[in-house]
Amino acid sequence: MSAPVPSSRSEPVKVAEPTLPYLPLTRPTIDDETIAGVAEVLRSGWLTSGPKVKELEAKLSAYCGGRPVRVFNSGTCTMEIALRIAGIGPGHEVITTPLSWVATSNVILEVGARPVFVDIDPVTREIDLDRIEAALTPATRAILPVDLAGLPVDRDRLYAIAQKHRLRVVEDAAQSYGSTWRGRRIGACGDFVSFSFHPNKNVTTIEGGALVLNDEREAKLAEQYRLQGVVRTGFDGMEVELVGGKFNLTDVAARVGLGQLPHLDEFNARRRELARAYLELFHAPAGQALGLQLPPADFTQTNWHMFQVVLPEEKLTIKRGEVMAKLHAAGIGTGVHYPAIHLFALYRALGWKAGDFPRAEYTCRNILSLPLFPTMTRADVVRVVDNLTAILQAHRKS
Ligand SMILES: *Cc1c(COP(=O)(O)O)cnc(C)c1O
Repeated sequence: MSAPVPSSRSEPVKVAEPTLPYLPLTRPTIDDETIAGVAEVLRSGWLTSGPKVKELEAKLSAYCGGRPVRVFNSGTCTMEIALRIAGIGPGHEVITTPLSWVATSNVILEVGARPVFVDIDPVTREIDLDRIEAALTPATRAILPVDLAGLPVDRDRLYAIAQKHRLRVVEDAAQSYGSTWRGRRIGACGDFVSFSFHPNKNVTTIEGGALVLNDEREAKLAEQYRLQGVVRTGFDGMEVELVGGKFNLTDVAARVGLGQLPHLDEFNARRRELARAYLELFHAPAGQALGLQLPPADFTQTNWHMFQVVLPEEKLTIKRGEVMAKLHAAGIGTGVHYPAIHLFALYRALGWKAGDFPRAEYTCRNILSLPLFPTMTRADVVRVVDNLTAILQAHRKS
């Protein structure tokens, strides 16, 4: 066989498509100063909870108007510990939302109490404050609201209900560090306030969380629940009065947090700009016809932890999972925050069923988180909007 002869016809020249890098849903920003600081902690000989944890707690406390703050290894145990400090357990009910990360209601079960879900307000996608009073019973002890995507729940109305009915509040502010309510920082007022520093949150300690408390008595209890119930005195005194867990933050993690805090305002300002770009582009004439539900255009109070749209399932021939797959194929990451909690097998086994909270169920079936993180560019936002718009336009019911 002879060697193939190169074709004399001129072939179309194949130019490699300039493939855009994958745009993830989110990505933490860690600067070199922080990396150097972590290396210093690693060399220091003190790795677990120590001076960096104390320093982080002091910084967080200053940020929260001087209220006592303790840090932990998650933003989940923070809420469990708040419930324990409030004396909430078997026989008690806690009002919460079915649209959250499952941690929010798992902690209620963890302490032996019962979650009582209240349907959402479809605009804020948060607990419908108008429906809380109808859900109260003599067993109700607390309200556990969630600032979804960082948008603060109306604190005036929330605390008016709590005070009227003598209920504790555990604010699941996992997503709202850096948000404000009427000019006051979330965490600077209210009852228990719980933050998370998971890598997806606006500032991170890798894993970690913080609990804002009301007084030194609660702070001491938080320390006991955090570490085996231990209280130490002098050089050799040790007492155990209650069952604590193992929830302490390491100094390595705390050092990451200390490197993040100075960037909070700059990160959140950038998130706000990007969210503004999303809203502008989706509001452009082509986008409006899509029937997407957009988040409230709040540029003063929310830290824009996420940018979430709700797909109009009744107008589409395509389901959310397929939309996500098509975006993924186009190099764009998305997420679902969150599936309805009451429809998980664990909760169905406890008696909840489809149809219990129709507004949350609709939103949970169709909500979609789009990429949003400080190092994104406006061009990235344009890319997401263009791709999502094209997918939805190609799959509209006639
Ligand atoms: C992240 C998050 C939590 C839990 O925080 P972890 O630090 O991951 O334990 C709880 N509630 C909500 C709403 C969250 O977003």
